[in-house]
Amino acid sequence: MLIAHLNHQLHEREAQGLIRQRRITESPSGPHQRVSRDNQPARDLLAFCSNDYLGLANHPVLVQALADGARQFGAGSGASHLINGHSRAHAALEDELAAWLSPCIPQAGALSFCTGYMANLALLTALGDSNATIFADKLNHASLIDGALLAKAPMQRYPHGNLAVLARQLEHCTTPIKLIVTDAVFSMDGDLADLPALLALAERFDAWLIVDDAHGFGVLGAQGRGSLSHFNLRSKRLVYMGTLGKAAGLGGAFVAAHSTIIDWLVQTARPYIYTTAAPPAIAHALRESLHLIGSEEGNQRRTQLQQLIAQLRIGLTTLIEANPTLGWQLMASSTAIQPLLVGDNAAALALAAALDAQDLWVPAIRPPTVPVGTARLRITLSAAHTADDVQRLIKGLTQAAANLIGAKA
Ligand SMILES: *Cc1c(COP(=O)(O)O)cnc(C)c1O
Repeated sequence: MLIAHLNHQLHEREAQGLIRQRRITESPSGPHQRVSRDNQPARDLLAFCSNDYLGLANHPVLVQALADGARQFGAGSGASHLINGHSRAHAALEDELAAWLSPCIPQAGALSFCTGYMANLALLTALGDSNATIFADKLNHASLIDGALLAKAPMQRYPHGNLAVLARQLEHCTTPIKLIVTDAVFSMDGDLADLPALLALAERFDAWLIVDDAHGFGVLGAQGRGSLSHFNLRSKRLVYMGTLGKAAGLGGAFVAAHSTIIDWLVQTARPYIYTTAAPPAIAHALRESLHLIGSEEGNQRRTQLQQLIAQLRIGLTTLIEANPTLGWQLMASSTAIQPLLVGDNAAALALAAALDAQDLWVPAIRPPTVPVGTARLRITLSAAHTADDVQRLIKGLTQAAANLIGAKA
């Protein structure tokens, strides 16, 4: 019965163009990847889909640091942080992360998590008790939505970036604790939240601002310190979540906030308490990653990334202007996330397939990850890409556009 029920639903998804498929990567993360699927022979693809924005995931210094960490601390942590899994490596990483965020958050402490998904569940369930209301941007990441659904606090969502609606919601709110929750860089659109205006609202209505900087940490701001630093913000009302599996190249996440908030999370946050601590070698290597991100090499990687973003946008804008009948739209993003809006699920899949035929790997993102009717290619760039790589993508899309127009005519 269950199997028949699930098979029926899987077939329905297939008919709607919603089946997702995994590919197996046979080589380390990077622009050039060896990839296989369905027992077909492996292929060499040029990938524009990873969140490894600085190209650190296969950096020799980090590979070495991970090995050194394993030699020093062993392979596994053995238990949760509150039992005996909290190693010197975790503690040292937390101290460094707190220092990183201290220019933006007075009296900052930091707490490390196994994943960003868990950090968001922890934050929203631990702070969002029945005295609180959660205010969330409609396009927030799934982990923030799930965290709010698990929390006792009711959630009110405001239309993407619509601070007038948010202000009205805050004005009418009667709970003593108000939590505004937002992605800093929206993961499927690449645009930045107006954090200064959100913080001003938080101050006006005595609310807190929880910022998920999964796509800004390491990339934005001086020395890659993230979106709070990008906007030069400083306030005790800021609660910051950064992930360490994207620009930082390894895995895990952290929360930085007023030290009392950190103390409360340690005591009460179930996704922190009831899980085995991440291997300490990862924390050890993450300290090396922080040094790289803040170094001159980090600056050069961020500069390279900015140049590639500009190159891609110029190329795609020209292509779209020359072919208005395609109905493609390059979204307004200045970040490494550069979505090309196509609209229809089947059209997005066909475009991804046309690129795949040219050994280019760009994922089609469909509902429910994005709103219905806004299927898109989510192009992401990395400092490990070259100008030639970006040129190949522009050429590939130009070729696909010519074929589509030829097929229509
Ligand atoms: C990736 C992501 C997360 C989850 O982080 P993981 O460490 O991958 O679990 C949370 N929020 C946003 C906006 C993300 O893009």
